[in-house]
Amino acid sequence: MQSPQTTNDLEPRASTGECRAEINLAAIRNNLRLISETSGKSVIAVIKANAYGHGALACAQAAIEAGCSGLAVARLSEALSLRYQGITAPILIFDRVPAKEVSWIIAQNLTVTVFDPAQVAEYASEIGNGRKLKVHVKVDTGMGRLGVESEQADTLVDAVTKQKVFDFEGIYSHFAKADETDAAPTDRQKNRFSALLNRLAVKGQLPHIIHLSNSAGALFHQQLERCTHVRAGIAMYGLNPSSETVLPTEFQPALCWKTELASIKTLYQGQQVSYGGRYQVSTPDLRVGVIMVGYADGFRRTTGNHVIMRGRMLPVIGTICMDQCMVDLSDCPDAQIGDEVTLIGHDGGLSLSADDLAKHWNTINYEVTCGISARVQRIFIEKQERKPQ
Ligand SMILES: *Cc1c(COP(=O)(O)O)cnc(C)c1O
Repeated sequence: MQSPQTTNDLEPRASTGECRAEINLAAIRNNLRLISETSGKSVIAVIKANAYGHGALACAQAAIEAGCSGLAVARLSEALSLRYQGITAPILIFDRVPAKEVSWIIAQNLTVTVFDPAQVAEYASEIGNGRKLKVHVKVDTGMGRLGVESEQADTLVDAVTKQKVFDFEGIYSHFAKADETDAAPTDRQKNRFSALLNRLAVKGQLPHIIHLSNSAGALFHQQLERCTHVRAGIAMYGLNPSSETVLPTEFQPALCWKTELASIKTLYQGQQVSYGGRYQVSTPDLRVGVIMVGYADGFRRTTGNHVIMRGRMLPVIGTICMDQCMVDLSDCPDAQIGDEVTLIGHDGGLSLSADDLAKHWNTINYEVTCGISARVQRIFIEKQERKPQ
């Protein structure tokens, strides 16, 4: 396999050949363009949680290259880290930021989310003369998380607009069930948001950035005409929002997760593998491979995992350790130390997706890629590729 061209935001050197995530930035740009085309709206690229494990800086750059009008993160620390690394694009912070950080936020040209009157008052008192804080008002239309109740949103918008210290730039809400087949709950949220927007329009209070849809909302539901933007996370990485909302085949998963075979040994009947000896060799002998991935990399400490080597699906045996786990090499007699091992991705005719791991781990693909730990080197590649059928 040809070694990829690399740039790395964690360590400026090429792959060390150990446990690594290869991120195809061409796929991310392609996915973002598809989201924009399908929804007919500008895209705010959601790159919280280290871009769902894909590497925040490189994904931010890819999003800007793809024409995204802004970025969004959950936390202030994430936004600051992007600014330190030279990202000048607009960044919206979803979570609450402490009032004492407000002048810092203005200096860094970040945008905050406000969702309650006390927060608005607190921020106002921290903003110095002649300065303005960019805010988006967050409305709860049915998610039951952050956001002012839509009936109280008018009052909150009044409080924001009547103070010169605020630049009321945007308003948004968030879907709870856009990734489900039943469109009714999503339509109810859309209706609540739409009614609010109509009330604000009458008062001339509509901000210029209005957004509602996450990935599933952007791709599987009709957009409100008044919305100017969508906020896309999971689909920009080429991953399905859910099993009920499967991305069209033009989308490409951006991330492959790989490691290498570190050691091969033969164990004999009755010998045990790994902590607790929970796996015991039951054949006269067994070739066992030690691969460089463990729970500290985000590979879950459960039984029944599989990996691909030399185009064959191999079972992981024994307890997963912090840094290694063992595989049964019976079906791979030609294995060599240093062989590439695929945890997520394609090899030969076989593939393992983040969805496959999620299903096995009883979670969602979001948690799988977010769980790939900081130790795993991110390698950025450019590969124009069509998804195999
Ligand atoms: C994470 C998040 C998104 C992105 O959701 P996806 O399903 O990944 O597209 C959008 N908006 C808010 C407020 C979020 O927290």
